[in-house]
Amino acid sequence: MTPPPPENAEPSAERRVLLAQPRGYCAGVDRAVKTVEVALDRFGAPVYVRKQIVHNVHVVKTLEERGAVFVEETEEVPPGAVVVFSAHGVAPVVHEEAQALDLRTIDATCPLVTKVHREAVNFAKADYDILLIGHEGHEEVIGTAGEAPDHVHLVDGPQGAADVQVRDPERVAWLSQTTLSVDETMATVEALRARFPRLVDPPSDDICYATQNRQVAVKEMAAQSQLVIVVGSANSSNSVRLVEVALEYGAADAHLVDYARDIDESWLAGVTTVGVTSGASVPEELVQDVLAWLAARGYRDMEVIEPVTESMRFALPRELRQLSLAPGKEGKG
Ligand code: SF4
Repeated sequence: MTPPPPENAEPSAERRVLLAQPRGYCAGVDRAVKTVEVALDRFGAPVYVRKQIVHNVHVVKTLEERGAVFVEETEEVPPGAVVVFSAHGVAPVVHEEAQALDLRTIDATCPLVTKVHREAVNFAKADYDILLIGHEGHEEVIGTAGEAPDHVHLVDGPQGAADVQVRDPERVAWLSQTTLSVDETMATVEALRARFPRLVDPPSDDICYATQNRQVAVKEMAAQSQLVIVVGSANSSNSVRLVEVALEYGAADAHLVDYARDIDESWLAGVTTVGVTSGASVPEELVQDVLAWLAARGYRDMEVIEPVTESMRFALPRELRQLSLAPGKEGKG
């Protein structure tokens, strides 16, 4: 809920909002959230979800209210139950664990993450050492590395590039997490290439279209904003990168908030232009709450900054598409 405007909030023609477009849900997140919703409709509660389906506290809470049960590990799911794997992807060993427990699995891994998994498998088959640029401990990185654990070395930024050890410097390839900063990743690749001149590139960009588009929009917006508000959760890699990109591209101040109520009034001191965007896992209603919160404080003029247009959509996972051929609620066994 948006709080009432403070009594001293005077409308001001100088105050304005720049709203980034594209922002919010990407095709992979939209698909993952719908996957859990459709699974709940078809199988009934509870539907287990391994890890947060997407990295957003509001989305997780809303699905929990509908009967989704979020677990950290496969072994927490009762034998025979329905389990959804999150958009970030899982290692093959997780599929094996699920099979051993006779779970009914629905894999909501984003197709663009699956693409990176396939690249890892192919480079490993050709016996390359794979330098995976990403953040240690991130679920996506764990899943991708799990495709070829004997070949993958994690490179967490340019410093990681200086330290990584490989078997044969003539036979190295790089891959990346899908949600990194484009600029920082290329800086890491250049540092790797300086050490390994024969470094092989991925067949296509690993940083996904949605991550790139949201960063392009925030770059353009940041240069004109004194404050940038990014709606997103602290464990959302692409949302955190948007804050960093905003600061790097000219915003004097930038903050990540889950909800409008998290905005600190003091951030607005002396600010006439506020940029607003949201990470790829953020529902639009949370952005609208932020816009209403700002409007209540005199930031009513709004301009949309849309340097790129987006129209990507993904079909639901195969397991659900097959079910949709047979109407009615399914048994869990
Ligand atoms: Fe897929 Fe990109 Fe969205 Fe991640 S951010 S779920 S890789 S589309």
